[in-house]
Amino acid sequence: MEDNGSVNTRSSGALTKYDLIVIGSGFAGCMTTLNFLEHAKDLGKMPTVALIEAGKEGERCGASRWTPAFFRLDKNNNLDSNFKNEMKLVSNGLADQAYCEKLEREVPYTVQFLLDHGVKVQHQTEKNVYLGFHTDQNFSKGDGGGYAIILKLLEHILSFPNVDIMWETNAEQLLTVDDGTIHGVRVRKNDGYFSRVFGKQVMLSCGGFEGNREMMGRYVGPRSEQLGLVAPGLKYNTGYGLTMGLQVGAATAGSFHGLHCELVDTRSSKPEATVWGHSFGIVVNEHCKRFYDEGNRSLFATCEVIAYETWRDQNQKAYFISDAPIMDRFRPGWVYDTTDLEPEQGDTIEELAGKLGLNPQDLKQTLDEYNSSIDNKEFDPMILDGKRTNGLTPNKTNWANPIKVAPFYGYPLTAKVVFTFGGLKVDLDSRVMSMTGAPIPGEFLALSVTKTYPPCNSALRCLTFGRLAGKAAAQAL
Ligand SMILES: Cc1cc2nc3c(=O)[nH]c(=O)nc-3n(C[C@H](O)[C@H](O)[C@H](O)COP(=O)(O)OP(=O)(O)OC[C@H]3O[C@@H](n4cnc5c(N)ncnc54)[C@H](O)[C@@H]3O)c2cc1C
Repeated sequence: MEDNGSVNTRSSGALTKYDLIVIGSGFAGCMTTLNFLEHAKDLGKMPTVALIEAGKEGERCGASRWTPAFFRLDKNNNLDSNFKNEMKLVSNGLADQAYCEKLEREVPYTVQFLLDHGVKVQHQTEKNVYLGFHTDQNFSKGDGGGYAIILKLLEHILSFPNVDIMWETNAEQLLTVDDGTIHGVRVRKNDGYFSRVFGKQVMLSCGGFEGNREMMGRYVGPRSEQLGLVAPGLKYNTGYGLTMGLQVGAATAGSFHGLHCELVDTRSSKPEATVWGHSFGIVVNEHCKRFYDEGNRSLFATCEVIAYETWRDQNQKAYFISDAPIMDRFRPGWVYDTTDLEPEQGDTIEELAGKLGLNPQDLKQTLDEYNSSIDNKEFDPMILDGKRTNGLTPNKTNWANPIKVAPFYGYPLTAKVVFTFGGLKVDLDSRVMSMTGAPIPGEFLALSVTKTYPPCNSALRCLTFGRLAGKAAAQAL
């Protein structure tokens, strides 16, 4: 079908070309939009912005509106100074160190920007769990989570008369002129028809491809359809950012088969019903066998790996098993209380196994072998305590506390996807690179269609590079 016209909300006849088109209204898109508007105002300019969003007004679309927004910050709002090393480690040296260092330099300014705009950041010293961050055990979180942050940013954006927010509008194709310059985007409105939105600068901030089954199958691989979404808003992240970039010759970056997933309570329908505490118990598969060193590294360093392995190798079924001393220690608290359901409970391991649908004798055997292979070091969840098993495959190399005291507790778990990793290649100024190494012309920027982890840094990254992209776009006016 041919385009049936152009979105042209500001003109009274002649076609208006927006100064900036931002696609997606999560952390990256809202920060780009607001910083663009504010910097332009400081420069004495009133440029026009189109903020294009696939979700409905008031809906919690995308990832940002669902995240609890844990930030890897120290007490003074500096990024964890070890983050760049962690990135190097988990990427086998492939992560762009200059990018990580820029993030580290810029994060304090991002947090200050948020504070100046009414976002509150909570700090707490975590006294019960070794975080593995270099933040002096400081644990930070956006007050009210990502939803509150987005509402605050949108409130400021809407105080500007020169921005149009186009809800229920899906960006699907970039518009280019003959020399390859990007000058707009073709969108599909909720009536199914195409329109065109023209702009001098375009920012792609429309998430990953976790909401697109076909792309998940293509990039992540077989059985990816078994990976449910950890939050409903992710259904909008259908990979159009990546698709649009590839269509105009953009280069790619990141691990396309990789993704961040979490182990969630199989019984719960609550979004992000994640059970984090694998480090302090054991996790078995449907055959009652342990398959992962639950104490390998910190809880945050291992949560996505054990979830990924559950999906990839364990038929999407895992069972967390623990006992009274551990549960008494950690509940109530964030470690086991993200799910809305109480754990299954039994006075014996066999009774617990029955409630979890596991073979009682097999689970008992695994527990007996585990308990009898533990050394006699002190258990200390605040350090990598080296309390380990010996002679098991796999061993548990830290926090191998015995599981002996009734009642016994268990959660049935499955992996759900939080976000994908593969995306478009950008430079330090968020400009999209072509396959030849030259930036694609037309002030074409992208964020969040490229992803990095490890945990508690994705939000800060989107907020930070979104802020910088907005400022750069204003300076380019
Ligand atoms: C449940 C959950 C918990 C998380 N916890 C943490 C945490 O504690 N700490 C942390 O650092 N990170 C966390 N993350 C990750 C982090 O929230 C995300 O990486 C970050 O919010 C992504 O922001 P974004 O702006 O790039 O994308 P999003 O917030 O996903 O925004 C993308 C927007 O684009 C829209 N869109 C998509 N396609 C189109 C299209 N074609 N046209 C128009 N609009 C489109 C979507 O509707 C969406 O609103 C979590 C994520 C989830 C889901």
